[in-house]
Amino acid sequence: MKKVVKFGGSSLASAEQFRKVGAIIHAEKERRYVVPSAPGKRFSGDVKVTDMLYDCYHAAGRQDISQKIAAIAARYQEIIDGLGLELDLTGEFETIRERFEEQAGSDYAASRGEYLNGLVMSAYLEFPFVDAAEVVCFDEDGVFDPEKTNDVMKARLEGMQTAVIPGFYGAMPDGSIKTFSRGGSDITGSIVARAVHADLYENWTDVSGFLLCDPKIVNDPATIETITYRELRELSYMGATVLHADAIFPLRKEGIPVNIRNTNRPQDPGTLIVENTCRQPNYTITGIAGKKGFCAVTIEKDQMNSEIGFGRKVLQVFEENGISFEHVPSGIDTFSVIIHQSEFMEKEQSVISGLHRAVNPDMLDLESDLALIAVVGRGMRAMRGTAGRIFSALAHANINVKMIDQGSSELNIIIGVRDDDFERAIRAIYDIFVLTHV
Ligand code: ASP
Repeated sequence: MKKVVKFGGSSLASAEQFRKVGAIIHAEKERRYVVPSAPGKRFSGDVKVTDMLYDCYHAAGRQDISQKIAAIAARYQEIIDGLGLELDLTGEFETIRERFEEQAGSDYAASRGEYLNGLVMSAYLEFPFVDAAEVVCFDEDGVFDPEKTNDVMKARLEGMQTAVIPGFYGAMPDGSIKTFSRGGSDITGSIVARAVHADLYENWTDVSGFLLCDPKIVNDPATIETITYRELRELSYMGATVLHADAIFPLRKEGIPVNIRNTNRPQDPGTLIVENTCRQPNYTITGIAGKKGFCAVTIEKDQMNSEIGFGRKVLQVFEENGISFEHVPSGIDTFSVIIHQSEFMEKEQSVISGLHRAVNPDMLDLESDLALIAVVGRGMRAMRGTAGRIFSALAHANINVKMIDQGSSELNIIIGVRDDDFERAIRAIYDIFVLTHV
């Protein structure tokens, strides 16, 4: 049995956190491949090392960066001293300083957070260090190359009992460093899991898994025990901050489950993300997520239903304006397009005139300040009356439903309400499914 374990920045922000991580890794000998992030915030208001590196790099060449480099070095030294290690990073910081002054690139700069934390982790665990620049490959255009990476990583880790592979970065064919987008150490973890055919990818962070809904809206919501990749996608409004969306693809390819765990509460089982499962969810719904700030463009035209190509012409106007749509609820003579208000704002007039030219509507209506709520659950498929319960809960809470869209997989129901009703709607749905517990 093999496990890949990835630790986020808050799990590695101090020597104390490193000790917790060490205890977790040593608790199971299956935890063989370790992917660290850069040190994160030690307390609220603290600065992540990645952000210190970006800041220092942008100052390089314009001012003396000695103090900024010293502040970053101090973050690592505090960890090294706290763990009682012999490691000396002076030479590494000299190189970093030189390369910053030569303007080696902001990706190079940011990657040093993970690189150095990988060296510390390797010294602490006495696991060999594998530089991600050698095993995570981007092409000459800077696009991640999953197949080449898989081959190179597999060959490199074959026969290695244990390894520390820093997260977040890799290299292009000319050797220059390239990073994933922010939070990208999650992706490295899943790439390693795929390459070594791990039985489980443990992603250790500072929450005990996914919560059924936003704790800022519902007080102390239940934790999701098991969720499928598809459910997670449907809940993507909520998942993004816990697990990088691009981390899912390498894992789905191999059917490797991910377990989101809390470094500060290792006794909690966390959330298990799986391809498929027979495990019944605790509640009919797996999760509720949503977002404010949408608007609806509604086009009305008599006999629209018999006009071939009507929908295409409408959507083409949005495409030509570079706007992606979220939903397209339609009626016999109406067609609405739900889009992000922020994307639409600037292009509004160009879209309106484009629609007039394209389909000559009888009426065109704009409605802003809409919120979308996704109620998701594999348990809904077999259950009669789920939609009925949602809508009666909303009616009791005096909330007007502006749009309904049930995905054809019956895995999700999307509800549009006014921005002002958003929080109350989520609470009403949570109450009916979780607090009344059916
Ligand atoms: N350190 C990087 C960031 O702050 C990557 C990561 O933590 O996953 O975004």
